[in-house]
Amino acid sequence: MSATIISGNFIANKLREELKQRVRTLTETWMQPGLAVILAGDNPASRVYVRNKAKTCEELGIHSEIFNFSGDTPQKTILQQIQDLNANPEIHGILVQLPLPDHIQINEIVAAIATEKDVDGFHPCNVGALATGHALFRPCTPFGIIKMLAEYDIPLQGQHAVVVGRSNIVGKPMALMLLEKGATVTICTSQTRELASHTRSADIIIMATGKPGLLTSGMIKAGATVIDVGINRLANGQLCGDVEFSGAKEKAGYITPVPGGVGPMTITMLMNNTIEAAERAKAKAQVEARDGSVQQF
Ligand code: NDP
Repeated sequence: MSATIISGNFIANKLREELKQRVRTLTETWMQPGLAVILAGDNPASRVYVRNKAKTCEELGIHSEIFNFSGDTPQKTILQQIQDLNANPEIHGILVQLPLPDHIQINEIVAAIATEKDVDGFHPCNVGALATGHALFRPCTPFGIIKMLAEYDIPLQGQHAVVVGRSNIVGKPMALMLLEKGATVTICTSQTRELASHTRSADIIIMATGKPGLLTSGMIKAGATVIDVGINRLANGQLCGDVEFSGAKEKAGYITPVPGGVGPMTITMLMNNTIEAAERAKAKAQVEARDGSVQQF
């Protein structure tokens, strides 16, 4: 039997209606939420992602500003821009589009973002908060996946989840969020021996490798849930994920397509985090206005 297709487009559109309402409330009662995006270099995929983020902001009524830097911009210039944005009360979320040019130390850039504006959730303090069960911002891609699983009532507690990939932006936070939900989690990497022996025992498989078609139907337990994070451009220009979709959909119980699966959810959760940052800033401003105290988040 063919798997149920988990539509990221459908869930994202539904969530965006709720987000629009939160933006309206903030704008009418306080101020418009604001997102700043920093882009350095001329990576074509990054330009498309940044354009899409700005477009989604506009659709939802969020103010957005894009800061374009050439590929040879010194790190200190970008750090100064982040400091300015940290101090700007009209900006509630700051995002640095990755990858950055080779001469830039990503860790130093991410650590310069004020934790309460770190809507990607990549600041080391926010990573630690997630790891200790007190997340301030959940990284957008795995957060979107958790929402998708919830929308389709796919249970996590006690289930065996296999995450393939250990990047800081997808694999590791994904594993932490699945653990938070009570799943038994295995993380596989390029060093894992016999990947199929792990994936075949999984109730839920999250593929985040950037390797087209790595997961084939023979590596999937019948009825398992397969989430494909990969976005790969083939030589013929076609977009595909890390899952060999046509075979996998005949074996899995639930599966996400590429495109139209995880992608639209990632951008939606970025909007969600930006709005949440603005809502917290509003609450903090109200407390300060009321009794002059400084509230710590
Ligand atoms: P990275 O390149 O940072 O990480 C890839 C991970 O996959 C690494 O941990 C690597 O292991 C592992 N890996 C590579 N080959 C294998 C293999 N044969 N078996 C098992 N593990 C393997 O990628 P990202 O996490 O940033 O992104 C992964 C994919 O997801 C990409 O296609 C990216 O474009 C896409 N993506 C999609 C998003 C969306 O919104 N849909 C958002 C973010 C990313 P090791 O560490 O050992 O090298």
